[in-house]
Amino acid sequence: MKGKRPPNFNDQCAAFIASDIKNAIHEGINQEDIIAGLVYSICMNYSNRVKGNRPVGDKVFMQGGVCYNRAIPYAMAALVGKPIIVPPEPGLMGAYGVALEVKKRLEMGILDEQNFDLQTLADREVKYKKPFTCKGGKEKCDRRCEVAIIEIEGKKYPFGGACNRYYNLRHKIQYDTGGLDLVRKRQHLIYEKYGTKRNKDKKNKFRGRIGINKSFLTNTYYPLYSHFFTELGFEVVIPDSPSQEGIDQRNAPFCYPAELAHGFFYTLLQMENPLEFIFLPHFRAVPDQFGGPSSQVCPLVQGEPFYLQAAFKKRISELEQKGTRVLTPLVDLTKGVESAKKPLLEVAIQAGVSSKEGKKAFRKALQQQMACFAEMKTFGESALRELEADPEKIAVVIFARSYNGFVDEAHMGIPHKLASRGIMVLPLDFIPLQDEEAKRHMYWGMGQLLLKAANIVKKHPQLFGTYITNFSCGPDSFIIGYFRDIMGRKPSLTLELDSHTADAGLETRIEAFLDIVKAYRQLVSANKISPQKKTFVSGRTYLEKGVPKVVTSSGHKLAMTDKQVTLLFPSMGKLATDAISSIFRGKGFNVVGHPPADEAVLKLGRANTSCKECLPLILTTGTLLNYIYNQKKPDEVLVYFMPTGSGPCRFGQYYIFMEDLVKKLELPDVAIFSLTGNNSYVGLGVDFQKKAWWGILLSDLMEDIRSMILTNAVDTRSAVQVFTNEWNSILVALEGGDFAQLEAQLIRSTEALRAIPLKRPFPEVPKILLTGEIFVRRDELSRQFLTEQLAEKGFATICSPIAEWLLYCDYSHDKGLDYSKMTGMEKVEFMLKKRSMAKYEKRIKSIMSRSGLVDAEQLYIEPIVKTASPYISPFLNGEAILTVGSSLTEVASHVCGAIAIGPFGCMPNRISEAILNEAMNSEEKLSTDPGNRCLQMTLMDIEDLPFLSIESDGSPFPQLINAKLEAFCLRAERLHTRMIDADRKMTINRQPQGIFQQDKGA
Ligand code: SF4
Ligand code: SF4
Repeated sequence: MKGKRPPNFNDQCAAFIASDIKNAIHEGINQEDIIAGLVYSICMNYSNRVKGNRPVGDKVFMQGGVCYNRAIPYAMAALVGKPIIVPPEPGLMGAYGVALEVKKRLEMGILDEQNFDLQTLADREVKYKKPFTCKGGKEKCDRRCEVAIIEIEGKKYPFGGACNRYYNLRHKIQYDTGGLDLVRKRQHLIYEKYGTKRNKDKKNKFRGRIGINKSFLTNTYYPLYSHFFTELGFEVVIPDSPSQEGIDQRNAPFCYPAELAHGFFYTLLQMENPLEFIFLPHFRAVPDQFGGPSSQVCPLVQGEPFYLQAAFKKRISELEQKGTRVLTPLVDLTKGVESAKKPLLEVAIQAGVSSKEGKKAFRKALQQQMACFAEMKTFGESALRELEADPEKIAVVIFARSYNGFVDEAHMGIPHKLASRGIMVLPLDFIPLQDEEAKRHMYWGMGQLLLKAANIVKKHPQLFGTYITNFSCGPDSFIIGYFRDIMGRKPSLTLELDSHTADAGLETRIEAFLDIVKAYRQLVSANKISPQKKTFVSGRTYLEKGVPKVVTSSGHKLAMTDKQVTLLFPSMGKLATDAISSIFRGKGFNVVGHPPADEAVLKLGRANTSCKECLPLILTTGTLLNYIYNQKKPDEVLVYFMPTGSGPCRFGQYYIFMEDLVKKLELPDVAIFSLTGNNSYVGLGVDFQKKAWWGILLSDLMEDIRSMILTNAVDTRSAVQVFTNEWNSILVALEGGDFAQLEAQLIRSTEALRAIPLKRPFPEVPKILLTGEIFVRRDELSRQFLTEQLAEKGFATICSPIAEWLLYCDYSHDKGLDYSKMTGMEKVEFMLKKRSMAKYEKRIKSIMSRSGLVDAEQLYIEPIVKTASPYISPFLNGEAILTVGSSLTEVASHVCGAIAIGPFGCMPNRISEAILNEAMNSEEKLSTDPGNRCLQMTLMDIEDLPFLSIESDGSPFPQLINAKLEAFCLRAERLHTRMIDADRKMTINRQPQGIFQQDKGA
């Protein structure tokens, strides 16, 4: 309470705060202020993440042991702006609550009165006897928990274990735990009843052993895979346990299921007798629930063969020398399980089997898989009938993916914990889902299942949901919010697991959940829960014959160019927002380009999200609310621009989230406007598209020019002034929309920029590629002013262009990698568009390169994809392939180091980090351009190439990252020197004899 100026530690979890505290100590902030900052941070965490956007009443009561620290209630009062009442013994409120509950139960006659003598209780001697290992009972549980024996007054009590077994024994309660736990039944069906390891038919020729990783969707499709291979004469091998040594070799911080994938795969690789084959599919999509085009799985599931092969490269090549072959077909089941036929046949042929045999084996395998699914549903239906026969009973549906909620190695015994309390437990794929809706734009196949099941559970009076998720799960950061919205007031439990989750914490949460469910059912039967009535109507946008329009909350239809309407752009990097705003302004829109996000925007974003979503969503949410709360006029109709996509990453969920938020906060006359990347943002017509392209190209080029000026101008301040003036003139020309005038302006601007005095010639300036996630690499706050930091160290930043992403979307569209199909006419239009884009790119870049401040080469996606293709498949849509391809292409050729930056938990960034941590070395680089003499000279005696991966949560980088950045810069400086030397030597060698060195520069 002595703190006067507490630093802002935000509202992060303890792990982040620790590094913030270290930073504060280094900055010389005094102890009292640091402690005050910590106290505020605890209160902000509660206020932002637990309370969230629920309203606060007039009287605030605060309890719990935390209040013994008197600073906490004070800080909370300051945050909520209301007085807070703290009881005299805040830490004993739970005990008082229990006493009151006992009193109530005695009064109700559901508890018998007994006499206890406090002294006798206090005097009782408790002896701890030798613990034993639980054998698992008749359910054959194999967790082997250690159970304590406690002796009181000569009587021994077993105590502990991960389930309620010993509590039940002590209280003589008996449940058919095995029968109640249908998750266990599911595992039995998949791996035992319908899965197989060997074909019993003696006539079958033995073709060797094939390993299947026990990861991800194997936990659903094992019957299909295993029968297919055994029918062909292979013996199937699945790893029995995940090896910690394997998990430790992961190259990036992955979610728990991906960690397990490493562990199991390593077990396969370490088998004494090397396997002949390893089946490691790129699993792209599960069957679509709506016959639609997209039901993909998360990028980390899809990325499995790529990051595993990177992590265990050395071991795999050793095995390959001994004859092992790793088979990685693309399995895309969007159109149904039958679509597995093509990739499985391919694999069979690679393994030397005829297509005819393959087809026969597939028929049998498919039959087994479908029979397994059918039996799962039969079990589910009969369980529901049994449940409904006794309305007093409840059942819990486990909301999870097969690999995190339905298998022993991942679910931490949660289903068993519930079943041992007499509760029936159903995996979500046991309940009939066919007639249910999911949510619009739900492109994740597992998300479709989860939300369909949520609708069923919501409606069923005896079903309740337990959602098992994993720390840093990307899709769940959105899906859990949707799940809770569907549940409304119906209680549900969310358990977030990772390798450190402790049993005790789970037990408490489950107990509390079951108590809440009980109380809820009592309230429902007493009619004390009234349905929520919502009358709010949010604004919406639509395209009418290519003209964008908005409908207000009161139902008025307005053209989006109407004076009453403001089109707000979040900052996507200042220059890009400036450029796009100018183009829209030129089209008659009333545009506001929001300034780059700051601390206040970040805080507002965090307060209105779960903070588990990715940083761009948090910042763009904060931006929208910042404008509404601080700038929006009462009669203004606000349209917020938010692009979208169709997976497999989270970006496409942003605008759905925003629309839900507008509804939740009941923000009138606010609508979200979205053009899709899938149609290459064509929603607004060809002319708009063309001009937006000019704007994007120019903002990309000017971003790099700015960085070069920061690093290399003799007088930075006046050079930045020149830059700002020229950029403003370019924006005016962009708004004018006439290419001839734009060209004229660009010529004038490049002359002005060219006149800036520089410290050294352009080729001699060391350059760093800043690649990774498109928003974070451009946004000043997200990248923590990295460009400026690098400039201070003498490096110019080359930021991967936004144009690269647009060209990549076109590339995916062209090749059908994004599930889209073009008609003949669309193909012609698409080709014309590409030509026109290439023409403008060439022209704009040729002018801008005259500034002498930027290396404005034409962008081509094919070579980037080709460079990346030994490490990652083009069928894994998203930024990972671009990050891998451009880092390997550029390093040691144009730049002396690469930094891949992304938001905390960014899935594509983690995949590229895992791959590049292995691939950024001279051997791999030389393999991209084997005949390049200059490159060979540069990389002689160099092993690892400078590469750094950074995750940002919008707060200052922790010390560890700063230290890594220092080391990275030293290595980059060294590589730069080598690049310059090699280039000089090559130039000398190329020069005809007799020409002096100084003639070179003339
Ligand atoms: S991030 Fe989530 S959906 Fe993706 S692999 Fe991990 S647990 Fe599964
Ligand atoms: S690429 Fe990263 S930041 Fe973008 S949606 Fe995916 S996880 Fe989020």
